[in-house]
Amino acid sequence: MDVMQTVPASTYTGRFAPSPTGPLHFGSLVAALASYLDARVHSGHWFVRIEDVDRQRSIKNADKAILDCLHAHGLQWDEPVRYQSACDDYYQTLINTFFSRQLAYYCTCTRKMIRQQGGGSACNCRNAKHGPAGAAVRIKLDTPVLSFNDRIQGPQQAGSDCATEDMVLRRRDGHYAYNLAVVADDIKQGVTHIVRGSDLLPTTLAHLSLYQLLNAPPPTYAHIPVAATEPGYKLSKQNKATAIDPHNAKQNLVQALKFLHLYVPDTLHGASCDKILNWATKHFKCETLPKVSEIIVDKQQSAFYKD
Ligand code: GLU
Repeated sequence: MDVMQTVPASTYTGRFAPSPTGPLHFGSLVAALASYLDARVHSGHWFVRIEDVDRQRSIKNADKAILDCLHAHGLQWDEPVRYQSACDDYYQTLINTFFSRQLAYYCTCTRKMIRQQGGGSACNCRNAKHGPAGAAVRIKLDTPVLSFNDRIQGPQQAGSDCATEDMVLRRRDGHYAYNLAVVADDIKQGVTHIVRGSDLLPTTLAHLSLYQLLNAPPPTYAHIPVAATEPGYKLSKQNKATAIDPHNAKQNLVQALKFLHLYVPDTLHGASCDKILNWATKHFKCETLPKVSEIIVDKQQSAFYKD
């Protein structure tokens, strides 16, 4: 199946894809900045996509707060912002095509039940011919992708994770799954390079399997270390990380760049965001970021990274 792109493929198209579950915090500013700089270093396009596919987790007006904050930091995107909540028909069309290729099935199992049955390929629902009522839609992963090379984290192999489990495309509550939406949209938007937090590394093999099933060329991936307050606790909207104050945009940029191992020279302290970003674009090198999953930042002042 070929998934039509609405955006012409260029040599480099990157994106920042926040879920609107709260305002931008230091960790998400770092992710936005890394994806922006990598795109600009390669003279590429950079998009912003609001990942509000899960309506229950989305917070009213958080999208606007995120976009305003990016804008205040000089991070300008190149195309109108895409909202996943407006794309249900597209996701359903892909699911219908998977059904017509006999690759999708309705499943009434919980994840725990699937594991107890020995993994996705052994799910009894594959042959049970359930109807849609109260069922999730899963895709058969008979030949999953088992490895890839991350630009920062290096070679990755499938372990005892979800890479080989029949993936949920639509949840039992009717919501389209993040794993489907993110791949479908990256294909639609012609995204060639994904730079995002290492917390998403475990989902990447499943995403690559979807690219394969959709006959779409896969992007390259770079998973940057996430900012954490202590080992295993990444800054997130869920654990109430301090919101970035857009009035301190220049200082925030300097701190976020420091996290990315870019030390803004004193002569640029106090310069405009545009000047700081211009300087950073000349010096950013994604591949030189440390091959670790997280970097510890100051808990109280999560907007102000200390080393
Ligand atoms: N929406 C995801 C998040 O906010 C990011 C997805 C991605 O970058 O692929 O964590």
